[in-house]
Amino acid sequence: MQITAAIAREPNKPFAVEKIELDENIRDDEVLVRVVAAGMCHTDIVCRDQYYPVPLPFVPGHEGSGVVEAVGKGVTKVAPGDHVVLTFNFCGACPSCQEGDPGYCHSLFGYNFGGARPSDGSGTLSKNGELIHGYFFSQSSFGERAIATERNVVKVRDDAPLELLGPLGCGIQTGAGGVMNSLHPRAGSSIAVFGAGGVGLSAIMAAVVVGCTTIISVDVKPGRLKLAKELGATHTIDASKGNAVEEIQKITGGGANYTLETTALPQVLRQCVDSLTLRGVCGVIGAAPLGTEVSLDMNSIMFGRTIRGIIEGDSVPDIFIPRMVDLFMQGRFPIDKLMKKYPLDKINDAVADSEKGTTIKPILMMS
Ligand SMILES: [Zn+2]
Ligand SMILES: [Zn+2]
Repeated sequence: MQITAAIAREPNKPFAVEKIELDENIRDDEVLVRVVAAGMCHTDIVCRDQYYPVPLPFVPGHEGSGVVEAVGKGVTKVAPGDHVVLTFNFCGACPSCQEGDPGYCHSLFGYNFGGARPSDGSGTLSKNGELIHGYFFSQSSFGERAIATERNVVKVRDDAPLELLGPLGCGIQTGAGGVMNSLHPRAGSSIAVFGAGGVGLSAIMAAVVVGCTTIISVDVKPGRLKLAKELGATHTIDASKGNAVEEIQKITGGGANYTLETTALPQVLRQCVDSLTLRGVCGVIGAAPLGTEVSLDMNSIMFGRTIRGIIEGDSVPDIFIPRMVDLFMQGRFPIDKLMKKYPLDKINDAVADSEKGTTIKPILMMS
């Protein structure tokens, strides 16, 4: 069938919105989804720009939401008409998957960045005979239809506004899960979140949900810090104007119980570790280019402190995504405050606005 989709054709060049062909002959384990909307995440841009070797041209999009149109013969989890959020894919068979940690799947790269079906390398998208790589995060949801697999579609309640739910599949799951699943702070504890983009602000909202009473947002953009405050941060620090580590020590009386790094900058990771109290835990979410090194005072990690990396918020998506939807519907997790909608053909405006920092989470509407 013919679909309109946004294509990454060249690094550092605008996306092209074109009509292309999608081979709708789905496999036994696949699900054809009519995409309603898709969130845009930094990963879409850095893959277009080839920080990670995703084959060009390809259709990005890994925060899709939509309605199931057809299912393969072996699919039992969802049926046509179901509302679904599309998330990352994983193999289901490696040691991490078997132990319930799919974000650390040993085959994560092939299942999400390979540009083709991981099973046999076949493609699903083309234009006049030219292969367009698809299957980005086993969805390529910057288009009107997406082929996903049973494993990476998550059924959600159908009274929730479907067009807002896509980012729960990646960016919001990453930030909120980093707090709720990975760090799981005790009620009454303190947390400092470095970076107030979509991931960092999701972490702030999650810290409110779990009952942190000192919630510090650190960023260099006043507009984002203002939003962090609206979402429940008890303190904000403009790191361009002062020493964030000293301010956190002062606010918390000696250091935060938890810190979260979402910026992928080594000097910020250093500040995250230096801002911890004794036995504090620093979560590392920001994905830096391969080979990025950081320097630490070895003594700063001696006193029971922990530094741990976190992928996709340690989420088991079928469990965690519906929980976040319930929190949103109860008014306790206002993800809509991060979002701004754009029609798909205005995708390059969405990129420009998110690079300027005026939009936190663009939502691309398919129709
Ligand atoms: Zn696996
Ligand atoms: Zn993402």
